[in-house]
Amino acid sequence: MSRYTGAVCRLCRAEGTKLFLKGDRCYTEKCAINKRNYKPGQHGQSRRIKVSEYGLRLREKQKLRRFYGINESQFRRFYAAASRMAGQTGHNFLRLLEARLDNVIYRFGIGVSRPQARQFVRHGHVTVNGRKVDIPSYLVKAGDVIAIGERSRDKALLKENIEVAASRTIPEWLQFDAEKQEGRILALPNREQIEVPVKEQLVVEFYAR
Ligand code: SF4
Repeated sequence: MSRYTGAVCRLCRAEGTKLFLKGDRCYTEKCAINKRNYKPGQHGQSRRIKVSEYGLRLREKQKLRRFYGINESQFRRFYAAASRMAGQTGHNFLRLLEARLDNVIYRFGIGVSRPQARQFVRHGHVTVNGRKVDIPSYLVKAGDVIAIGERSRDKALLKENIEVAASRTIPEWLQFDAEKQEGRILALPNREQIEVPVKEQLVVEFYAR
């Protein structure tokens, strides 16, 4: 599976928005979007390209894909699943993306970024309803209990992240107990509860073309 291994701040600069790929740095003045909010590359500051209708939709799709850090084939599979569900495809798509285990670990604050959250899942530090799950794309359901596995509870990085996260607000569809290192999915989110810098309708139009 191909994975982007370049400088992630370039992705934010290419999309012209914060994609929050670097953890705490994203919230500081050091963020590249704060310091150099223009396209990366030699002509980033000078060249203005007129964007076509297609280009606009393509960029929105790329922005969403990069926000969740998913490769194209998996992203497309999620879209196909969303389009088969009842209701608005765009909303279903975002709900599915939010329900990914790596995203939930990030939303709880256990991982400072989605890439770090994904690594925690892959390394087997996370359980769902008491069973280890090491698949980042695993989809959680309402009522699921997500926790740090017994053997990982003393890991310094995890503990440090959870301590910092305890003072932050998490989305209202989630509940997290920092003492127990355990969280619960109260319900899957509705559109208003999902914070993404993307107009999902343009993504739908991109795939529906
Ligand atoms: Fe880099 Fe984070 Fe800022 Fe994006 S939001 S440019 S990843 S520091």
